[in-house]
Amino acid sequence: MTERREFFAEWLVPINSPPIRGGGIRLGGSRILELLPPAVTGAEKFLPPNSLILPGFVNAHTHLEFSDLKVPLGFPGIKMPAWIAEVLRYRQAQAKTGDLEILRESAIRQGMSESTKFGVAALADISTKPWLIDIYKGMKLHVVPLLEQLGLAPQSVVDRFRELETAWENARGPGRQPQAGLSPHAPYSLHPELLKSMISLGEQEDALVAMHLAESREELQFLETHSGAFAKFLIDRSLWDPTQPTCAIDQCLELLSGTTRGLIVHGNYLQTRQLDWIASFPELSLVYCPRTHDYFGHSRYPLEEILLREIRVVVGTDSRASNPDLDVLAELRMIAEKFPEVCHKTILRMGTEGAAKALGLESQFGALRAGTSPGVLAIEFIEPIGDDPVKTILTGKIKSRFWLDRD
Ligand SMILES: [Zn+2]
Repeated sequence: MTERREFFAEWLVPINSPPIRGGGIRLGGSRILELLPPAVTGAEKFLPPNSLILPGFVNAHTHLEFSDLKVPLGFPGIKMPAWIAEVLRYRQAQAKTGDLEILRESAIRQGMSESTKFGVAALADISTKPWLIDIYKGMKLHVVPLLEQLGLAPQSVVDRFRELETAWENARGPGRQPQAGLSPHAPYSLHPELLKSMISLGEQEDALVAMHLAESREELQFLETHSGAFAKFLIDRSLWDPTQPTCAIDQCLELLSGTTRGLIVHGNYLQTRQLDWIASFPELSLVYCPRTHDYFGHSRYPLEEILLREIRVVVGTDSRASNPDLDVLAELRMIAEKFPEVCHKTILRMGTEGAAKALGLESQFGALRAGTSPGVLAIEFIEPIGDDPVKTILTGKIKSRFWLDRD
């Protein structure tokens, strides 16, 4: 029989309902049996002073394959095409030093254990060829692998799509319920026909589809004029020539809006009318990666415009190739710092309930709800929590974080 345990803390923060001062939680293994009102007998098991209980965080966007990097690639303020050249250089160097599959597997495992250490219970990982899907199975951390494909050359469209379809069949899991999703990489790396085929597959399979979109000014320049640093980058490497078509941002948005659930990753430079369009599709979410955004020195993120339109915006860490670590809470804290006028509850939801909804995991993750196993996390602060636990989560000095539902 599963052991039953109860924990009480200075605050219980369920996310989907108001925080409870002195509240507790009853667990059967990792399952929440009940949220408890404040302790009365004095015999209850209390967490250390200045502690609160909340659900595990949800990371809507990362690339775990770069989790072995000690520091990001490039330098702060680097332009996107130059940074992608660094990524390619890094991959080539890796291929020379050993078996790429073994190195990648090890990096993904490091990323999963780092995420768990930071209190992340679920995440969406962009998975690249050879799509190592089995690695995620049987872990405490819930991973939604998003199978990425790219390719601009018209002659490679059929083959690239076929190999992806085969990987999809293997990744999909038992029955018709997709366990994985798809990721057409970005408009500057995909032939329009390959993008359309991937979106159709996503539609047929009711899969989550994530795409990097409107991330940099160089991307917009390339898509609009077929010139600039991206054009040079692609031509220099014989990845594209100016006779080959690309998809405009508007077209990508239109295609994504047909999917069951879509993630627009970054969207740093979306125009007002494009945000208006996104707002009319509640199954589309924007993924903001605050520290990566900061690393590249982009223009201010249009967070106020996005929230004003009631578009779901959630956070991702992106990878350690552009971010120092995979700490979702650090991303939320940066938002609180950069956008002091945005309500703290709204910010916290971006890395919990909102992110779970964006990934289609809302029935299990992102909130403390009886009957679910969202990962039950405790955070201990150095100073008293006071009357506003959500503010403390986003601004207080943290002493430790620990899981209550696992050893
Ligand atoms: Zn990314």
